[in-house]
Amino acid sequence: MLHIVPVRAFTDNYIWVIHNHCHAAVVDPGDAAPVLDFLRRENLQLVAILNTHHHNDHVGGNARLLQEFPVPVYGPAHESIPTLTHRLKEGDHVQLTEFPLSFDILDIPGHTAGHIAYYGANLLFCGDTLFACGCGRLFEGTPQQMYASLQKLAALPNETQVYCGHEYTLANIHFAKAVEPGNSALLELEVVTRELREQDIPTLPSTMMREKATNPFLRCKQLEVIQSASDYLGESLSDPVSVFAAIRSWKNNF
Ligand code: ZN
Ligand code: FE
Repeated sequence: MLHIVPVRAFTDNYIWVIHNHCHAAVVDPGDAAPVLDFLRRENLQLVAILNTHHHNDHVGGNARLLQEFPVPVYGPAHESIPTLTHRLKEGDHVQLTEFPLSFDILDIPGHTAGHIAYYGANLLFCGDTLFACGCGRLFEGTPQQMYASLQKLAALPNETQVYCGHEYTLANIHFAKAVEPGNSALLELEVVTRELREQDIPTLPSTMMREKATNPFLRCKQLEVIQSASDYLGESLSDPVSVFAAIRSWKNNF
């Protein structure tokens, strides 16, 4: 039986630990201390580190973890992460034999130029590309790239469990409501999310079905999203990439 547990780091990062009560793999350990605490408490042996992109809040704990556990470090082929041992790109696979669990690698540039996702067994670890009801900022990519990356993720099965790198859901819902005030799924999600956050419970994982129903960045062909994006820019938009670009810059200033 696989368990996937969020370890909190910094203000709103989630470091996802995959374990079977014996072995553990860790996704995006930005900080080693809370991961080491968790592994000790649960008596787990670390067997792999998986990184989605090079930002320090996702890789900053690699070196310290390696001092305790000399494990393989998987990560994006096209980014510079000093501790990487396995450089991954789209079409590659990662086999974690201890569980057993295998992931397909997807290239999802946009937040960073070489950002990758891990997808397997209905689980998606997508770092800072897709968030619940939102998406990452475009630090190194174009709207065209990010839109294509999000579309690639949206093509995964509805039941895909979406494990994101940050707890941003409630703020993302506030923005999504401004874009799509007529989306009743958003109002339902807001009620549930608010209850979870009041009890300090993570709102993740999401599912791809939920994201397709509520995430404005996956809904750039919906009439209300097109209309809101057009109103924001003050010009009439039609193609989904332009709609995406408009709501992404709107969110940056929201
Ligand atoms: Zn990042
Ligand atoms: Fe991050």
